[in-house]
Amino acid sequence: MKKALVSSKKSHATFLYIPETQSSVRSLRMPIWGPKVLAGILGVLVIYSSFSAYAISHLKFQYETSKKDIKALTEINNSQKAEIESLNLNAQKIQKQLEQNLAALEEVKAAVGLEDKGSEETKTKGKAALSTVSQAIDGNIALPFVSGNSYDLSAELSSLQTSLLSLSKKTMNQKTEIDKSVASIKDRLDYLRCVPSIAPVVAKITAGYGYRRNPFTSRGSEFHDGIDFGAPYGTKVVATGDGVVLFAGYQSGYGRMVIISHGYGLTTSYSHNSSILVKKGDKVKRGQAISKVGSTGRSTGAHLHYEVKLNGKNVNPAKYF
Ligand SMILES: [Zn+2]
Repeated sequence: MKKALVSSKKSHATFLYIPETQSSVRSLRMPIWGPKVLAGILGVLVIYSSFSAYAISHLKFQYETSKKDIKALTEINNSQKAEIESLNLNAQKIQKQLEQNLAALEEVKAAVGLEDKGSEETKTKGKAALSTVSQAIDGNIALPFVSGNSYDLSAELSSLQTSLLSLSKKTMNQKTEIDKSVASIKDRLDYLRCVPSIAPVVAKITAGYGYRRNPFTSRGSEFHDGIDFGAPYGTKVVATGDGVVLFAGYQSGYGRMVIISHGYGLTTSYSHNSSILVKKGDKVKRGQAISKVGSTGRSTGAHLHYEVKLNGKNVNPAKYF
């Protein structure tokens, strides 16, 4: 095949098509600017298709990148959901722990008798402290629920933040109340250490507290304001609670006598001793030996006369051991 460009007149060009077979020659006549326009259109088409190819490949690349990004974001979203759920669980655990702390505190208080014994003031204080602790942890904290298909976790996060803030406040309140309770528990333990709560000597009781026949005249009755222990001469006598020796010496009728102040308006006295092992002002512990059994003073034989006074008035020592 052959193509030929034959110029004719100035304004036109004729294209001849001469097949090598015997068919006839064909011609195409067009204005002289025709080929230029065709070349221009062809050029534009070439540029346009290269741009299109580039744009398509770029879009494809962007699409792949976005797909990867979406996958990564979905993974992050899922892991955040898991994290929120785990934080929820932790918050619930903390809430439960707060409740258990309160229960433990109540147990300790009950163990040291803060709920039924002790002064009215201590009791009232203790109860007030407990009820405040109850209030502090009362009311369940609304914990956020993470729904299955939610990708926007901002509501859950904000709710979780509120819950944790609330828990943190409650924890701080509880700490304050526990500190207060610990102070009253310490007071109570101090009281329990000091209160006369054991027998001063291991021996049988030969005379109880109250009216009895006069042991000296065997006629008429007298009020016996203590308890007599029939212990052998020289038996160790011990302090029945922590305290300070208020008196250690000879007292008419009581013979060699020790008086201990335990605080809380309580004193104990130990009379008719053969010897005294402490002196005035000594600090003594419960169970510490303070004297030895004897028969000094108004006594019919070796024994210990033991008295307990509350705010200066004799009370039955048997109430304390
Ligand atoms: Zn007596």
